[in-house]
Parts: sequence; structure tokens; C-alpha cells
Amino acid sequence: MIDLMRELGIDSSLEWNTPQMAFFSEGALYPFTTPLDLLRFKPLPFRSRIQMGLATMRLRRIQDYRHLEDVPAGEYLPPMVGREAFETLWKPLLMAKFGDSWPDISMAWFWGRVHVRFKSRTNTGLRELLGYVSGSFRTITRALESRAKELGVVFHLKTPVSSIDVENNRATGLTANGQKRSFDFVLATVGLPLLRRFLGDVSLSRDLGAVEYRGALVMLMRLRKRVSRFYWTNIGEEEIPFAGLIEHTNFIDPEVYGGAHLLYVSNYLRASGRLFNLSDSQLFDEYAPHIERVFPDFSRDLVEEFWVSKDPVAQPVIKTGYQRRIPEFRSPISGLYICNTSQIYPEDRGTNYNVRIARQAVEILCDEANGETR
Ligand SMILES: Cc1cc2nc3c(=O)[nH]c(=O)nc-3n(C[C@H](O)[C@H](O)[C@H](O)COP(=O)(O)OP(=O)(O)OC[C@H]3O[C@@H](n4cnc5c(N)ncnc54)[C@H](O)[C@@H]3O)c2cc1C
Repeated sequence: MIDLMRELGIDSSLEWNTPQMAFFSEGALYPFTTPLDLLRFKPLPFRSRIQMGLATMRLRRIQDYRHLEDVPAGEYLPPMVGREAFETLWKPLLMAKFGDSWPDISMAWFWGRVHVRFKSRTNTGLRELLGYVSGSFRTITRALESRAKELGVVFHLKTPVSSIDVENNRATGLTANGQKRSFDFVLATVGLPLLRRFLGDVSLSRDLGAVEYRGALVMLMRLRKRVSRFYWTNIGEEEIPFAGLIEHTNFIDPEVYGGAHLLYVSNYLRASGRLFNLSDSQLFDEYAPHIERVFPDFSRDLVEEFWVSKDPVAQPVIKTGYQRRIPEFRSPISGLYICNTSQIYPEDRGTNYNVRIARQAVEILCDEANGETR
């Protein structure tokens, strides 16, 4: 992302900060920013805290993840870190992302996640240094849009695609807003369930269908005042119906938002599940008492406005053996290319890796286009 921002001339909008993290466990909120916080983490006996610290160092030293690909994290981690520490700290993190699929999640994914978090530590290793794009991701998408337009790209916004047209196993174009359009190539960047829907009767192959997803459900609240001193609070209790509370204005000054305080309630769920399908106000009623439990300074009357965003195809479920299910950029249908988050592995999906796979997919497409006679 940093290279891309440099290329677009917007790298000066990147800000760096070391915000405060927390973990909510057994009814209490614990700071969780530095290794010292782990040593002070009361829900675990002292020897478990030490064992946890040592296990994290061992994971950090593993450079080649391939022997971890077919091993479930839920089997690999408990002997390494101790059952108690696993149940208290790492199982809740697996459950937050993957719910009841946690026992099947590949240790390679867990390794990828730990490695990235270590790389983002400051030189002393004590804190995480997080980047923020001033003006949010919109700064990047706007810059990309204007650069692409200079190169002759035409955007069709609010034009949902309903199908990819295929004749004799070759992609011939798209149908969008009820209108058929012919194209030489189609590069699909939506998730696999959507891609399969666009292809209708044309099957992609059973293997491609084997990637399961979780939906993301995010509520953003505008509050009258600050409700915690933490930026990111992970939730370690199964009874609480969300995965994390992110008080964004403990990272970026509320003045940037006209004095408003912003709190995100983040969740990963099955798109067919009950919570995902509640109305916005039902969801707010369900969440509010739990937010009050985590942050006693929170109350419903502090909320001036709230918004809910949903993406049913947000997070591929990285089970053991996932490496055998990753779709190729070149699909089995000629002229149809795939580039989406299901190809990000073993790292947890994120914009950094989207840039990486986009470069790879476009290179393949350009090579083939140059060799094409059409
Ligand atoms: C809660 C949350 C927090 C995250 N935080 C971070 C973070 O801090 N840092 C980071 O690097 N990454 C973060 N990510 C991950 C990041 O958002 C994704 O990796 C990235 O957005 C994926 O990009 P994409 O282009 O593959 O998919 P998307 O961004 O999902 O783009 C898919 C696009 O397809 C469009 N589309 C869908 N259906 C149709 C249709 N029928 N016709 C036309 N278009 C259609 C959608 O509108 C959408 O714009 C976060 C993700 C979530 C869910």
C-alpha cells in the first residue's frame, strides 16, 4: 500500500500512531498494548503468562509455514501455549473471525496473523505502530480513480453486474443493469459466491466452490463523548455478541470529525445467521447492554446517530488444506480472470495483499492480451 501511495503521490497522507489496545475477559477490561501488559494479565496464572510470551516468541521465529498448512490451530496451539492460555486468549480470537468453524482453521493462517502483527511493532518491540490514511481509504480510491481516468479507464458506477456471458467456454462480456456488453476479457474481483452467481449454469469446478466465507457486520456510532481510553478492544467472552469495539477517535483526533467520537462495533458472522439479518434498530438494542458492560461509561443516550454496514462475502474461512483450494488467476473459462480475497494466503486478507494480487493478476492478463489476436 505504501508503494502504491508513493506511486500515486499521496504518501504524505499516511500517519503513524501507537494506540492503546485492550482485551475484555471475565467481566473486566485489561490493557493489552505491550508485553508487560501480558505479564500483568490477571485472568491467567503467572506461569501461563510466561508460557504465552515464550510461545509467541517461538511462533515468531518460524519462517516457513508450510508444515502448518494441514494442522488445525486449535490442535497445534494448546500444547504450545497451555490449555488455559489458549482458551482465554487465542480461542476467542479464532472464534471472533470464524465462529463455530474455529476448530478447522489452519495453523498457517494463525502463523500469518502473528507474523504480520510482529512486523508492525516499533523498534523496541514494545508497541504496535499502526498506519492511517488521512481522509480514510477514500483518499486512495480517489487518487486511483483519477490516475486510472488519465490512462483512459471508464468507470460505470451504480451499474451492478448480473451475469458474465460465456459462449463455448469463453467469456464474451457482461450483463449489467439489464444491458449486455461485449468485452475481450473479464477480470472478476468479487468474492467467489457472487462470481458463481454471475456465471449461472456455467460451472467453475467443484474446488472453487469449496471456499467458505463469513460476512462482516459493522455498526458505526457517533457518540457525544469518549467512552474508553482504548483504540481497539478485543472481546474474550462468548456471551458478548460482537468481536471487537474500536473507538476510532482514540486513534485519530475527534477534531478531524468536528468533535464527534466514533465507535465501531465489529463482527464476523454467517450471512444466513440471526444477528446478520436483524434490522438496524434491533441490532442496536441487542448490542447496547453488552457495550455498557465492556465500557461502563457508554450509555444509549450518548449515541447521536448510528449506521450499519454489511458484506455477506467478507472473510474467506481458511481451513486446513486451504492451499489446495486457492483459485488460480486464470479461470477454467477462457478470457475470465479471477482476483479476489480468496487468493490471499497465508496472511489475513487486507488491502496490502489486494495490491499484491492485483499486480500479479494484471500481469498475467496483459501477457495473454498481448499474445491475443482479438
Ligand atoms: C471490518 C473490516 C475491517 C477491515 N480493516 C482493514 C484495515 O484496517 N486494513 C486493511 O488493509 N484491510 C482491512 N480490511 C480488509 C479490506 O477491506 C479488504 O481486504 C479489501 O476491501 C478487499 O478488497 P476487494 O476489492 O477484494 O473487495 P471489496 O472491497 O469487497 O470490493 C468488492 C466490490 O465489488 C462490488 N460489487 C459487489 N457486487 C457487485 C455487482 N453485482 N456488480 C458490480 N460490483 C459489485 C462491491 O460493491 C465492492 O465495491 C477490513 C475488512 C473488514 C470487513
